[in-house]
Amino acid sequence: MEENLMLPIARHDVEKALDEIDRDGVPRKYCSRLYCVVARHGRHYPPKQVLRLAYRSRDGSILTDFRGGKQTNTPLQLLGYTVERCVKAPQCHAGIAVE
Ligand SMILES: [Zn+2]
Repeated sequence: MEENLMLPIARHDVEKALDEIDRDGVPRKYCSRLYCVVARHGRHYPPKQVLRLAYRSRDGSILTDFRGGKQTNTPLQLLGYTVERCVKAPQCHAGIAVE
């Protein structure tokens, strides 16, 4: 599914992803350990989950095989989001969903 990553997502796709995380939390298996997206007055979000939900919100595509780090962080940064290394992940996430 690597080609999916070449397709653009827009800020509003990411905003929908953040809405979804604010509402539902992050399933534990999708929590990040190294990086956080810092948005919405300092809330922390796992970058891979943000990207995954953003793509799904855009056109329903399900990203299954993609890596964290640059491959995930760069598209978010290009849209103007702050992605930073975080030593508190995953405890800092905006919400951890009960499974
Ligand atoms: Zn964090």
